[in-house]
Amino acid sequence: MIKLHDKYFKPFLSETKIQTAVAELAKKVADDYKDEIPVFVGVLNGSFMFVADFLKAYPYPCEVSFVKLSSYQGLTSTGIVETLLDPPDNIEGKSVIILEDIIDSGRTLKELVNLFSNTSVKEFKIASLFYKSAIYNGEYTIDYVGIDIPDKFIVGYGLDYNELGRNLKEVYQLNQQHMINLVL
Ligand code: 5GP
Repeated sequence: MIKLHDKYFKPFLSETKIQTAVAELAKKVADDYKDEIPVFVGVLNGSFMFVADFLKAYPYPCEVSFVKLSSYQGLTSTGIVETLLDPPDNIEGKSVIILEDIIDSGRTLKELVNLFSNTSVKEFKIASLFYKSAIYNGEYTIDYVGIDIPDKFIVGYGLDYNELGRNLKEVYQLNQQHMINLVL
């Protein structure tokens, strides 16, 4: 168990499990894009570790860029998604594959789709390492999914709780039992 700020988190996904999922995702995408040079666009801040490991596992030439969006404060999504860094301007005619750390309600994804809707990219695809299928609104198809996880708040491997936990190699899940004990 680890403590970040006022909350306790328990181990959820090992480093090996995460690395296996990342390698499998990279392989699936590579099979589809081996004949062209795709542009991978990471969504900051949470995706930085995923993007680094994904690119190391991606065996063919590719480009990389980032956008920056923000919606979470503490344990909950604010519902307002802000764009803090816009898409690159040299993506015309190229296949863009978004690399998201996690898809939860889908609000951030909607903003991402809007961000790229004015660009004349050849193709726009979405890959997400973690995916909360039980609460995703289902508006857009997620083309590549790493691990389907339950609707519980997680930290580690780039994901934070109020900026802590991003440097963890493993993923931890909020320990709700501990919270219940505190209330009782
Ligand atoms: P959505 O807009 O789909 O509700 O949420 C997507 C964004 O919220 C992600 O890019 C991520 O920044 C944040 N997020 C969603 N679920 C979690 C979670 O379980 N843990 C953390 N740390 N961030 C999350």
